[in-house]
Amino acid sequence: MKCYVCGGEMKRTKKDIEANWKGRQVVFRGMEPWVCQSCGEEVYEPDDVRLMQTLMRGTMSVEAYPEIMNVEEVADLLRVSTQTVYNLARSGKLPAVKVGREWRFNREKVLEVLNRHTSQEETPVCEGRAGGGASRRPYG
Ligand SMILES: [Zn+2]
Repeated sequence: MKCYVCGGEMKRTKKDIEANWKGRQVVFRGMEPWVCQSCGEEVYEPDDVRLMQTLMRGTMSVEAYPEIMNVEEVADLLRVSTQTVYNLARSGKLPAVKVGREWRFNREKVLEVLNRHTSQEETPVCEGRAGGGASRRPYG
């Protein structure tokens, strides 16, 4: 890979990346950007950029989330995996609108669900026959 600034040789280098996000300092450890051996220019893989953006979004307050959120943002907000968000959306437990192949969530609605869940003591998420993990055994 050649540096787009000076044409020098670029090497993948492990390093900590410091970023500033709304006045907060965020450090990503063990990132592996391409670093130019002659001018020091750094280039990140698109995946790395996306990861950093996602993580930095997580440091934002709820109000900073967009009004209409995608699966990644909801997963981030609720601190669950995207798969869980898909499951909740599909089962109707989370109010969602399907736009084409993508799910979209209204921030307020998601927060309502979140508040409802946290104000109750425990909401059984899977009332399924599948696991049966909660079944009481006759012998203590
Ligand atoms: Zn360079």
